Amino acid sequence: MNDSYSILIIEDEKNILDFMSRTLKANGYKTTTVTSGKAGLSIINSQCPDLILLDLGLPDMDGNDIIASVREWTSCPIIVISARTGEHDKVAALDLGADDYMTKPFSPSELVARVKAHMARYKRLVGSNAQQNDIVEIRGIKIDKTARRVWVNGEEKAFTTKEFDLLTFLAENPNH
Ligand code: CA
Repeated sequence: MNDSYSILIIEDEKNILDFMSRTLKANGYKTTTVTSGKAGLSIINSQCPDLILLDLGLPDMDGNDIIASVREWTSCPIIVISARTGEHDKVAALDLGADDYMTKPFSPSELVARVKAHMARYKRLVGSNAQQNDIVEIRGIKIDKTARRVWVNGEEKAFTTKEFDLLTFLAENPNH
């Protein structure tokens, strides 16, 4: 059941990265692992993961900058994994749009439980939003059917009426 969910892990500490990846794979998730913020952003833009596990202290940028940038265009769940235990660190990350905050160290079962909970919540949320607002989101493409606007990997693209209708049809019928 879980194998359609892809999880991106952005973490520069190799042993923690491996531990998280192994744990999630053992529970049926697909994982992509990167050790820098830049690599993380590029994967988020190209592959649009179902959930992001994010370390804040990365070698090339602060994880908070990733949250801010990703939140401009997707509501995909972000769980922060950090050694920073201060209340203001947690509040800052959550304010920027992180969905959860886990303090290192944590157990495999806590990791899996939180990932599961957020995936379930996200699916419910996307399901109900889609009905209310006529938003279709699939593989990095977001379509607002009411406003007839399309974003590809966060960037708005212009389409002709025919192209828009075809794209919407394909997005809503992914098996065709
Ligand atoms: Ca780190």
